[in-house]
Amino acid sequence: MSAGSIGRLASLFAHARRPVVFTGAGVSTESGIPDFRSPGGVWERYDPAELTYQNFIGSVAGRRRYWQVGRSVYPVIRGAEPNAAHHAIAELYRMGRLDCCITQNIDDLHARAGLPADAVIELHGNATRARCLDCAAAYTRDEVHDWLERGADVPQCPRCSGIIKPHTVLFGEAMPRAATEEAERRARACDLFVVIGSSLVVYPAAYMPLHARDAGATLAIVNLEPTPHDHRADLVIRGRAGDVMGEVVARLGALAAGKGQVTWSTTR
Ligand SMILES: [Zn+2]
Repeated sequence: MSAGSIGRLASLFAHARRPVVFTGAGVSTESGIPDFRSPGGVWERYDPAELTYQNFIGSVAGRRRYWQVGRSVYPVIRGAEPNAAHHAIAELYRMGRLDCCITQNIDDLHARAGLPADAVIELHGNATRARCLDCAAAYTRDEVHDWLERGADVPQCPRCSGIIKPHTVLFGEAMPRAATEEAERRARACDLFVVIGSSLVVYPAAYMPLHARDAGATLAIVNLEPTPHDHRADLVIRGRAGDVMGEVVARLGALAAGKGQVTWSTTR
């Protein structure tokens, strides 16, 4: 990560009419949430084949196994705090330098850093919420976790005894249609698309930067590791999301202060 490339990214944010960011696991790992796909990650201890949507919907045993894993994973998510990257992205929004954040993360940390709900598009759902598949009653994951802690091995809806499902996309489950369509629309409408902390290997989410690029947007990628789409990007920065985005926001702030007023070519 060089000072020059950080300056270039800040300049892209300063001049874009409609900047969009796309975040992945790399943003959450800096909050202590393990990347489920990394070596030593959760999926090495559990078999993802057991935790599919089909198993969850199809059998009580499948749901029991899911909640057994969830009971140990959820407290890690619940205990995490937004980090420098989440705060920088929320600050971009407050500065009028962000149309929206499309995220693959399910941990609610963008909202907890202060991004309003209509500026966060969650492609893989949100682990802090759950609902009944039969009567559609909504529950917080905290409530469901409490039922698990008190001995329920397969939580049921207190109203109708229906199946309680977390508001996350399970393996083998389609992405939520409304969120996916909205993300595609915003990706195609933006003029700057910045990938932050995603290896761009999980589809169909990883198509989003391609939608943006095909529609003419400038593409920047901030990630510790190479991604399969680096050769399509106008700018690639190898670095930690929090370090890079913190510096970008600091430079934008200095730019605005230097001008005496904020005169972005604004979007909203
Ligand atoms: Zn119900």
